[in-house]
Amino acid sequence: MEDTKKDSQIIEKSYKKILQSAQTKKARKGISHDVDVENADRIRVKIMRLSVYLIEFTSQTFTENQQHVREFKKAFVEYRGILNRHPDLIPGGLREKMSNLISAVALHEAVGVSNMKKQYPRGECIDISRIFDTGKLYTRLTREFAADIVKEALKDHKDTIGNKETLYITATGDRYHRYDCPFCRGKKLLPISMSLLEHQRFTPCRCLTKQQDENGIDKNVTVFIDESIYQLDQIFTGNNSGVSTFGYIICRGMITSEDQISEENIILTGIDYCDEEKRTTIVTENAIGKVLITLAFGLKIANHVHIKVDNRTVLGTWMNNEISKQMLSMFESVTLEYIPREMNTKADKLTREDLFMKISRQTYRDLVKAAKSAEALTNDIKIQMEKNSGLSQEIERLYRELYSYRKNHFKYLVQEWEGEHF
Ligand SMILES: [Zn+2]
Repeated sequence: MEDTKKDSQIIEKSYKKILQSAQTKKARKGISHDVDVENADRIRVKIMRLSVYLIEFTSQTFTENQQHVREFKKAFVEYRGILNRHPDLIPGGLREKMSNLISAVALHEAVGVSNMKKQYPRGECIDISRIFDTGKLYTRLTREFAADIVKEALKDHKDTIGNKETLYITATGDRYHRYDCPFCRGKKLLPISMSLLEHQRFTPCRCLTKQQDENGIDKNVTVFIDESIYQLDQIFTGNNSGVSTFGYIICRGMITSEDQISEENIILTGIDYCDEEKRTTIVTENAIGKVLITLAFGLKIANHVHIKVDNRTVLGTWMNNEISKQMLSMFESVTLEYIPREMNTKADKLTREDLFMKISRQTYRDLVKAAKSAEALTNDIKIQMEKNSGLSQEIERLYRELYSYRKNHFKYLVQEWEGEHF
């Protein structure tokens, strides 16, 4: 019961966070004050009615309550709209009633979450604050039940390729293990998925984190990968092609989140590019290939590789490639795992700050052509100047032509040139 109460507080906080942002966000236009006067009246009646059901009639069944919570969500969205557009129409008394109703709804939703947790091994240990407090999942409370949001978050977004590794927990301990854990001999082990583990209050056992080779070096490496495609027209005018770049951070050990990345465990960070203008999945696949080759041949690490990417599609596509399959055979195991973008900020920062890119062949040719034309114009100016031994209208015209040529083709360099000639 204690856990249900804690969960209801987390859900309550999330609902209130949604209302808070409605008050601070710029008001949406479209619905007049007069219309909202009527809307506010209607919402007040709804809130009163739902309060009777959800706060006073405590003897209702879970399913009956569920129906009222569904109605509440609709009313909540309308209430939020009025709060955003015309907060003066929501008096203190109504705010208080809404606040009480949110507490009642949150408690009911926490019961739903508690029922759902029972479907998982050691489900009582699932920590929903990790689901509602980080990222934007909590905003879905306006249309989905908390239990469904939790269920979605616990889905396995991971794919183990190569040597598939199942992890285990015991009936009482708070660590997770390998099937052959030396510390768990004689205990019953329950198989569990990695994504479920992330939302539980479990930590990896030494049987995982201290897997060492004959030289005493940890046999795990964790890699964070981030990819980006930049549109070239952001840099050069008149070109719509993209350039792709990716960054990676390779760390010693089995790391579950990026805040564990430190100077001590980083083995290598890098940035690189690939020849792909549109499809981020291709860029990620290239990045994984580059990382695996670097690990196998550059760093001579061939044990358990845990790769984290924020591109979900690649989990399904990577293994379709024959070269990928061949690369796998170089390692004991490779795990490919999805992490949300907001949990991959360090690799993202690397890609952004040390932007490294290669432009497409066609763009390169265009630029060379443009540079040659600019050079020819410059020569023409020189010849004219020598001929006329002074400024003439013709020279001025050529300068202008050269300037506009540079401006169109080398936008980012114009300021530099402006200082030079104008
Ligand atoms: Zn263990």
